[in-house]
Amino acid sequence: MDNKVTAIIVAGGTGERMKSDVPKQFLELGDKPVIIHTIEKFEKSPLVSDIVIVCHESYIGEINTLLAEYKMSKVDKIVPGGETRQESSFIGIKNCPRGTEYVLIHDAVRPFVDERLIRDVIDAAKESGASAPAVDIVDTVMLKKGDFIEYVHDRNHLKRIQTPQGFKYDVIYQAHEEAAKKGITGSTDDCGLVLAMKKGVKIIEGSSLNIKLTEQIDLFVAERIINEKKI
Ligand code: C5P
Repeated sequence: MDNKVTAIIVAGGTGERMKSDVPKQFLELGDKPVIIHTIEKFEKSPLVSDIVIVCHESYIGEINTLLAEYKMSKVDKIVPGGETRQESSFIGIKNCPRGTEYVLIHDAVRPFVDERLIRDVIDAAKESGASAPAVDIVDTVMLKKGDFIEYVHDRNHLKRIQTPQGFKYDVIYQAHEEAAKKGITGSTDDCGLVLAMKKGVKIIEGSSLNIKLTEQIDLFVAERIINEKKI
């Protein structure tokens, strides 16, 4: 391992879109909770030295129990999250262990991240300071105004951004600091904050398997992936 890379797993959401009492990152998938599938990928990666988990305060105890049960050794800290993803992400950044050179910020609800994605994102962050995986879109995307379509985008120029997103530590720290100063609070991903500083974000090839468990249908798909791949 050449550089100290810390994976920040943001798990502070409450899962309203899943319409379940239990946030989606704590739902069972195959034989274990979603968040354990996710943490395992970083635990097993030789490129990741530490893990920081950001979650709702009321779940810290449960995560500690799960980490002991599944014998996870890279988790340095579990910290309470914020009101928004942006806040949770910055809390994770501020709680990285001393000496962190690069961070990977990853949604807890993307359990199918793999070693190829981790490696490519780190390599691109080393090259450019910031990187993110992206995949093609299949639907055409529009801008709406009330109940009408205002504008139809050219699909050939659009991509869907995934996580993990990789950053040089100082770059993402500064991006969050500047966003806070400008009053930006609702950013749904970290790349946007780097772009707001007029710095580039390198795109790497994402993975169609790296789905984000958001709605009930995603859980059915995830169960099928687990059964087929035995991962
Ligand atoms: O809500 P969204 O789909 O953008 O959530 C993406 C990830 O961010 C999820 O893993 C969720 O738990 C996390 N999150 C967070 N703190 C919040 C809101 C979302 O850590 N306040």
